[in-house]
Amino acid sequence: MQGGAAGSAYRGRTASIGFAHGPLVRVDAGAGGERVAGTLVEEALALRKAIDLASGQIADLAASAGGEAAQILEFQVALLEDEDLIEQIFASIGEGRPADVAWRSTLDEQIAEYNAAADEYLQARSSDLADLRDRVVHILRGDEGEPLKIPSGGVVCADDLPPSRFLEIDWSGGGGLALLHGSPTSHVAMLARARGIPMVVQLGAIPDAGATALLDGEGATLELDPSAEQVRIFEKRRESHRKSRASARAILRRPTASWRGEHIKLLINIQRVDDLEHADAQYADGIGLMRTEFLLAGHSELPDEETQFQAYDAVLRWAGQRPVTIRTFDAGGDKPVPGFTFDGEANPFLGVRGLRLCLARPEIFAVQLRALARAAVRGNLKVMFPMVTSADELEAGRKLFADVVQRLQADGIAAMLPELGIMVEVPAAALAVSSFKASFFSIGSNDLAQYVLACDRSNGALAPLMDPLHPAVLELISRTAEHGRRAGVSVSLCGDMAGDPRCLPALLNCGLRELSVNASALAQIKQTIDRLSSGGGVG
Ligand code: PEP
Ligand code: MG
Repeated sequence: MQGGAAGSAYRGRTASIGFAHGPLVRVDAGAGGERVAGTLVEEALALRKAIDLASGQIADLAASAGGEAAQILEFQVALLEDEDLIEQIFASIGEGRPADVAWRSTLDEQIAEYNAAADEYLQARSSDLADLRDRVVHILRGDEGEPLKIPSGGVVCADDLPPSRFLEIDWSGGGGLALLHGSPTSHVAMLARARGIPMVVQLGAIPDAGATALLDGEGATLELDPSAEQVRIFEKRRESHRKSRASARAILRRPTASWRGEHIKLLINIQRVDDLEHADAQYADGIGLMRTEFLLAGHSELPDEETQFQAYDAVLRWAGQRPVTIRTFDAGGDKPVPGFTFDGEANPFLGVRGLRLCLARPEIFAVQLRALARAAVRGNLKVMFPMVTSADELEAGRKLFADVVQRLQADGIAAMLPELGIMVEVPAAALAVSSFKASFFSIGSNDLAQYVLACDRSNGALAPLMDPLHPAVLELISRTAEHGRRAGVSVSLCGDMAGDPRCLPALLNCGLRELSVNASALAQIKQTIDRLSSGGGVG
């Protein structure tokens, strides 16, 4: 049964495996979006009120917390009383910025300064500043004055959730995500898998009532106000899941994965530098995909060259000699970015997204290319363009990149053109793969399947049709892999198929020997390759 109730149990579809047991937290997907700005006076008044409200909240928290927590909170109160800082923000509103944008960008600057400080104490204070920044932004955006921090094990429940809203939630206490609609192939599902947050979609109507929830990302169920017996069964399942993960993790330490005597390279996908903190990331053969558009989320302004360079450099330093493939911004589609993507497209997935958008906004693209060209001299960097349809686009991107490198070098700044590849995710690119003079190809099976099967990847109603093992999708994957073999150019696959054990035999049979998966899937994929090599099934 899908999307319906069985007693207090609701069944949906699995988007991310795992278990969460805690209070149900209802979230309005729209909350936390952009604020509708008023006049200068209204914006200044709104900021004044938000600061007063935040001060009151923090003072209350400090009074009840006591000890070290109170000291931390006092630091936040002191910042709210820092007249120089506050004046700077009011001046920014005076220049026409909405209150939330003015507040956020000024605080972001402060956070960057604290982060850059040599003093460890000051560096540590930057997270307090971020906390304060978010508290005031949430108040200004009418989000009941509280940033959404999930109580331990809490299950967030929403109709659907944009990726930006997912990123605004503090998942540090664990928890899970239950969506009434949504799709397992959406970007928010991808983020949940990357973070190891259990997620079930298409649960249908759920009553507002229900204090405690059991979310089973494996069985795709949500249980509200469970009985003691239901909790016992749930905890047993959670424990057996933990044990099977532990046995898969033991395989991670083995040096290489191989299948029929051939080495299989297993790399990881990351959204942000923080994703490298995943305990299993260290066992990867490198980074197969860094989705840089997530650097653009949650900021009122696009990150400048230095901020981007620092992020790319941090990833390269982490990787050492291992290869790092960074993808240029793939904004658009279901990842709109204010100030970058075009509004009002009738069909954004077929619109100006990925490389098309970057070529249409060369002033924004050039900043990223400069940061990448500077990072290229620091490690084993490869850069790839997303959503490429024609060879001309690749060449236009290459030319911009080469110009950027030339200008940097002329200014005496260390920079170089890295190896340049493309994502194969538009059917035209897969069919005409030999027309691209790329140094490598990476198959984006999420979009490739969406476009081949004519199924919007974020539309849950189409999920049953959205089968990446459809012969048409596999045919294009095989052709791309075959071209790579003949031309001596590496071909990897970095879509979600690579992290799905059920898809592994087909991918290996298509000739792929390089896969990039979320760090949370690395252990299971390595274990599955191991089983397939020894004649077993996918397990
Ligand atoms: C893909 O399309 O398969 C891919 C890896 O890119 P994204 O999921 O970010 O669109
Ligand atoms: Mg894609």
